[in-house]
Amino acid sequence: MTRGAAPRGVARRSAAPRGMAAIVQTPALALVLLLAAVLLLGGCGSAATKAGSGADASGSAAATGGATPAASGATEAPSATPTARPSPTRTPKTPRPTPSATPPGSTTSGGAGNGATGASSGASGATTVVFVDVRQGDAVVIKAGSWTGLIDGGPSGSEPAIEAALAKLGVRRLSAVVVSHMHADHTGGLTHIVSEWRPRTAYVAGTPTSALAGAMRGAGTTVVQVRRGAGLRFGAARAEVLSPAGLSGDPNSDSLVLRLEAGGKSFLFTGDCTGPSEAAVGSICARGPPIDVLKVAHHGSRYSTSATFLAATRPRVAVISVGPNSYGHPTPATVGRLLAGGSRVYTTWKNGGVTFTVSATGAMSISFSRSSQPVKKATAAGGGGQIDAGAATGAGTSSGASGGTIVYVTRTGECYHADGCRYLSSSRLRIALKDARGEYRPCSVCDPPR
Ligand SMILES: [Zn+2]
Ligand SMILES: [Zn+2]
Repeated sequence: MTRGAAPRGVARRSAAPRGMAAIVQTPALALVLLLAAVLLLGGCGSAATKAGSGADASGSAAATGGATPAASGATEAPSATPTARPSPTRTPKTPRPTPSATPPGSTTSGGAGNGATGASSGASGATTVVFVDVRQGDAVVIKAGSWTGLIDGGPSGSEPAIEAALAKLGVRRLSAVVVSHMHADHTGGLTHIVSEWRPRTAYVAGTPTSALAGAMRGAGTTVVQVRRGAGLRFGAARAEVLSPAGLSGDPNSDSLVLRLEAGGKSFLFTGDCTGPSEAAVGSICARGPPIDVLKVAHHGSRYSTSATFLAATRPRVAVISVGPNSYGHPTPATVGRLLAGGSRVYTTWKNGGVTFTVSATGAMSISFSRSSQPVKKATAAGGGGQIDAGAATGAGTSSGASGGTIVYVTRTGECYHADGCRYLSSSRLRIALKDARGEYRPCSVCDPPR
C-alpha cells in the first residue's frame, strides 16, 4: 500500500516545524545529556541515553482504510496528500550503546521470511509484546521486526521501567506510540518517553493533554486520530482499531482499543474500555477466533470485562496491568469471571513484567520478571499478589509496614541509589527496593540497601 493515501477513519496532523524545535532544544538538552553522561560514567556503568541515532530505519507505521466514517473529532480532515514526515535522520546527541540483549524467552525459530528484518531485532519475523510492570497503570512495549511501539506510558514515575524494557529489546527510537486515553495512569510517563524516544507517529482517539501535545510537537511526532475500522501496520504485525467509533466524552469509554495480529496470534489491547464500547468490541470479536492474549481493561475493575464480553472474546491468556491502589483493582469478581471463562490469568503485580514472544510461524512463549505462577484464586491483588501497605492508603509505594524500603533511580541510569547519593542530582525517582532489585544494580558509590 502506498503511504500517501489517507485512509478513511484516519486523520493526519503534521507536527510543528522540526528545525525550530531542534534549534530551541538542542543546547539545553545537549548540556543535560553531557552532564548525565559524565555523571553516569563516573561510577555507575554505562547508561543508555535516549537521544536517538535514527538507526531504526523502518518506522513504517502506515494506516490502511477502515470501515468507518471519517473521523469525528479529528483535528483535520483526511487529505489525499501525505503530510510532511519528520526526517528520520538526526545528529545523535550522544553515542548510543550497541543494543545487546534479545528479549527473554524469545523463540528464534528460523524467521519465515515475511519481510520483517531489523538491524536490532534478535529474531527476524518475531513479535515481542512486553507488559511492563508500571504498578497501577498501563504500558506495553511492542517490537515487530524493526518496528517498535509503545501503548500507553504508565503513571508518572514509570519512565525507568519503560525505558529499561525498551533498552532490553535494543530499541533506539520508537516508530509509534498509541495512547489509549488521556488518564494519568496511562500518560504520566509518556511526556518524557515521547521527548526522549521521539516516536514518528502517535495514534490517539482523543485530544492529548497540553504537556503531551507539546512533547509530540517537540519530537516531530505526527499525531493521527483513529476510529473504529482503521487498520494500522506495525512492521510485520497488523493492528485494527475496534473502538471508539466516536467520542462520548468519557475517557474510559473512549479508550482506543486495538486488536493486534502477529504470526497468527491475536492480542487485544483495551485501555480502560467499559460499557457500550466494550460491548461493541465484544460483538466484533465474537465474529472472529478466540483472542490469544487479552490486556484486561481498566486494571481489572469490576465495571469492565463482563461475562458477555468474555464469552465473545474467549481469551486464552489474560494480563491485568495493576499495582498497589486504593480502587480495589483487580476486583475478585473480575478475576473470578476470567478464571471461570478458562483464561490463564497473570497480573503485573504478582508476575512482574510479562513478555510474550511470537515467532513468524506462530509459536508463542511467555516469560516473567517475577513469578511465573498464574493467578489461581479470585482474591484481592489478583490472587496472592504482593500486597503492600501502600495499597490500603492509595499512597503508592511509600515505605511501609511490609518491608517497603524505598530506593532511588535516575531516568537513564542502570543503578539504584540510597537517598542523597550524588548521582541523583539530575533526576531522582522513587522505587521500591523489591522492584529495583530485578531491574537495576546497586550503586557502588552510595552502597544502597540490597
Ligand atoms: Zn482511565
Ligand atoms: Zn487506567
